[in-house]
Amino acid sequence: MTDLEISRAWLVDPAAGREGPGEIVVRGGVLDAVTWLSGAEAKGVGPDGVVVAPGFIDLHAHLREPGNEDAETVASGLAAAAHGGFTTVCAMPNTDPALDEPGVLARIRAAAVASGSPVELLAHGAVTAGRAGEQLAALGELADAGVVGFSDDGAPVKTGSILRAALAYAGALGLPIVDHAEDAGLTAGAEANDGVVATVLGLRGWPAAAEEAAVARDLAVLADVVRDVPGARLHLTHLSTAGALDFVRRAKAAGLPVSCDVTPHHLALTDEWVAGARRWAWEASGDPWSDQALVAGPYATALRVNPPLRSPADAAACMAALVDGTADAVATDHAPHTEVDKAVEFGQAANGISGIETALGLLLAAVDAGRLSLPRAIAALTTGPATVLGGRSRRAGSVGLVEGAPADLVVFDRAERWTVTADALASRGKNSPLVGMELPGRVMVTMAAGRMAYEAPDA
Ligand SMILES: [Zn+2]
Repeated sequence: MTDLEISRAWLVDPAAGREGPGEIVVRGGVLDAVTWLSGAEAKGVGPDGVVVAPGFIDLHAHLREPGNEDAETVASGLAAAAHGGFTTVCAMPNTDPALDEPGVLARIRAAAVASGSPVELLAHGAVTAGRAGEQLAALGELADAGVVGFSDDGAPVKTGSILRAALAYAGALGLPIVDHAEDAGLTAGAEANDGVVATVLGLRGWPAAAEEAAVARDLAVLADVVRDVPGARLHLTHLSTAGALDFVRRAKAAGLPVSCDVTPHHLALTDEWVAGARRWAWEASGDPWSDQALVAGPYATALRVNPPLRSPADAAACMAALVDGTADAVATDHAPHTEVDKAVEFGQAANGISGIETALGLLLAAVDAGRLSLPRAIAALTTGPATVLGGRSRRAGSVGLVEGAPADLVVFDRAERWTVTADALASRGKNSPLVGMELPGRVMVTMAAGRMAYEAPDA
């Protein structure tokens, strides 16, 4: 068990609704003291330096084990999480075999124990057997084994009738259905967001309507199910279009039990990057040719992701949804891939970005640009996802800087920048479009369950 003292830092505790100058002391792995400073003691301590926050929770990460350990293992994924400041990670069930029965969950839990990482591993179970979309998986057995939700992610829940049954069954078990909203009929052969960039590059368009139609279906089915099963809950993951987020905004206003997340890459990047621009979403115009904003080659396959990087207007809508609470959480959709799965032509490349280590940096870039407040960014990584999990984490009642609880926190320095390189990433997946770029906010220490999960070499 570990001791740690951080004096004169900026504490952010969304659970307490508080931020400000302070100090923390960890003794024997327990957060022994949280002291808020004021007056002369607080002088010179601001939010631009060392920040202490509760450990982050990722609702959506692909750890690739079992089945594709060349891309990631539970051990490398948890190491990557810790490097990104995350202390709780929800693994997605699209492994091989799929996590559609408790035996697979037992395997990845054993791998987490064997890794020695103190990062908490949670998992979603599959909605359907083999994620094939035909018959429900053994949801009751999976719930008994401890999954935190159900998802066929990688693909949407295939049909409305399966979704209806899944929402009802999972709802009775007190668990959410986590859907990847995509009308596959509208995305067959699609390569990049339908718009100027795809047209100029000759890539087949991926329409926003594919996501919006799926969200509309999901919400309509939810409204139907919830009349009979009040516990039914829907979580829409990695929403990326203005229209989809608007549907959720209205559904929430109408009282439907729906939540959603957005990803760091859909907040900070746009389809301009596929053309070769490297400016943030809030600096983008949507036409990098007329702005002469191209600084890299086109068709970089690290940018191929599902849903695709969208227009600047959609990215701005993701940010607005995060700011106004329509989006409950930021989830990374960490999707590591091997080099061989990306070293092909753009439309053939595997979908996904290795993103759990760069999530904080992208959000801090938005904070630096005045697009997002620091407390809101931290809340979207802590209390927001904790609420979606509904207490199904070992930190259930204490997702904050709580004295007397096992230390579960991240310390990062906003005054320091770091360069994303393949070597700097603990993930086996080096498929990040940010490789070669500098990001703000270096993680110095991540502690989980009172133990050191990550410590910067020079910290
Ligand atoms: Zn997905």
